[in-house]
Amino acid sequence: MGKTGGKGFSLARRLYTSRTLGLALGLLCVGAAMYPLNPAPWVWVVMLLNAFIWPHLAYQWARRAKVPYHAEHRNLLVDAFLGGFWVAAMHFNPLPSATTISMLAMNNVAIGGVRFLLAGTAAQILGVGVGWLIFTPLFIPETSQLQLYACLPLMGLYPLALGWICFRQAHMLGRQKRELLALSRTDSLTGLLNHGAWKDQLEVEFQRCQRQHQGGAIALIDIDHFKTINDTYGHVAGDIVLRQLSKMLKQNLRAADVAGRYGGDEFCVILPDLPLNSAAAAMDALRDRFATLGYEQNPALKVSLSIGLAAFNPAHTDATLWLNDADQALYEAKSTGRNRVICCGDGMPHHELLDPV
Ligand code: GH3
Ligand code: MG
Repeated sequence: MGKTGGKGFSLARRLYTSRTLGLALGLLCVGAAMYPLNPAPWVWVVMLLNAFIWPHLAYQWARRAKVPYHAEHRNLLVDAFLGGFWVAAMHFNPLPSATTISMLAMNNVAIGGVRFLLAGTAAQILGVGVGWLIFTPLFIPETSQLQLYACLPLMGLYPLALGWICFRQAHMLGRQKRELLALSRTDSLTGLLNHGAWKDQLEVEFQRCQRQHQGGAIALIDIDHFKTINDTYGHVAGDIVLRQLSKMLKQNLRAADVAGRYGGDEFCVILPDLPLNSAAAAMDALRDRFATLGYEQNPALKVSLSIGLAAFNPAHTDATLWLNDADQALYEAKSTGRNRVICCGDGMPHHELLDPV
């Protein structure tokens, strides 16, 4: 079995289809121009080999190559050389020659840009030279009606096939680009937005709040003593906790809320159009639910969260100041005992605000 995954393998497959079609139609075009010239039997044999055997040979060659892309580069040069050879053999019959040259040029430029076009042109000139030596051609500046009709299938169908192949390629690239963009914005462990993507959303939300003079809140959520969890139960168990938290965030937040993983064991949420006390109630419910969560593999494991909340402040000149507020609140939640929600400026745990003792 040949290697089937190297660089350019899909190019080799695409070229296999277009080469098989192009050369079969090309035989019609070249054959009609060669027929009145009464060529020797070996010329017909070469023509048939070129049309029906070469596409399969070229494909197998590329398939088995270490780098199919390089093999196809060489195959395209062979195509161009043979094209030039037939142009000389046809004694430069205008329409079949122009058709052959332009189809090859279209092929080369579509696959390898100007570089392939130039290399192909050089190979074509070489082919013309070799053909010239063998056939000592005359210049026959006339194309019969039959020869014209024989060129039409190649002229009509080949650009259609190549255009279709290019379109499909562009379509696939567009899809892959969208998938890559989504991947570049996603945290691979949790599936939430990653740091950069969440910060972009924060900027958008900050500007929206400024424009519409509306409130909103952001929360920074940090797992308490996460390092100890890793040290006690292992990093795999730690990863499960991180995934559980992201799952809970996805399930419990509103559709408009934007959750992300800020980094390590720290998560972040944008809660648009939510007054600070409602945001605090929502986060406290989340903290409470997370604290009671059980873990199948480690029943003794209990995990608490510290959460810092900050409301949008119209006095802030940029979004990082908003983030600083939430960071400050998170710091207070940590330093005053953990397992609590603190709102920026409050300095008191949220549940104590709700139910003063
Ligand atoms: P605190 O209560 O003050 O937040 O203490 P902590 O132990 O949670 O905080 P610290 O910042 O010291 O530790 C965070 C740990 O998170 C350290 C790091 O090894 C771990 N961590 C970061 N990313 C990952 C991850 O993707 N998976 C796992 N399992 N651990 C991670
Ligand atoms: Mg932590």
